[in-house]
Amino acid sequence: MIILQGGCQCGRHRYTARLQKPEGYFCHCRMCQKAFGNIFATFINLPVADVRWDTPEPAWYASSRIARRGFCATCGTPLAFHYLDGDYMDLAVGSLDEPDCIRPTDHTGVESRLAGWCEPVALPESRIDDNARIRERWQAAYGPDTEPGRPPSA
Ligand SMILES: [Zn+2]
Ligand SMILES: [Zn+2]
Repeated sequence: MIILQGGCQCGRHRYTARLQKPEGYFCHCRMCQKAFGNIFATFINLPVADVRWDTPEPAWYASSRIARRGFCATCGTPLAFHYLDGDYMDLAVGSLDEPDCIRPTDHTGVESRLAGWCEPVALPESRIDDNARIRERWQAAYGPDTEPGRPPSA
């Protein structure tokens, strides 16, 4: 069992969660693609009772008649998914303070998977902190000892 903390990009919503195993999954369904503005969502699944909101709960959007999605109405971060009648819910892996500790175990919603974006194709790689222009802008805004590409609230 591990204790995880996380929250949205601006820090308005924070949670503490208890997870039995450090495992998560990909969802490629069209609803998740829309909700995340991305080609897939990544989640950990855990009992509702094992999630504690340390701040007020996020806003909830009824994404369908059977489920709702938690998000921050200030910064827009997608945070959670919950079937209305479910004892379990999901938290978005990217909203964790240390997403590195979660290992992906499976894919769902694969009928909508965008193969061209998901296959490990050999594309050029770069680091955000190697981009001089971004580094310059970030450090002018946050100070010379800060690193670009990390939420200022974390
Ligand atoms: Zn926020
Ligand atoms: Zn989905």
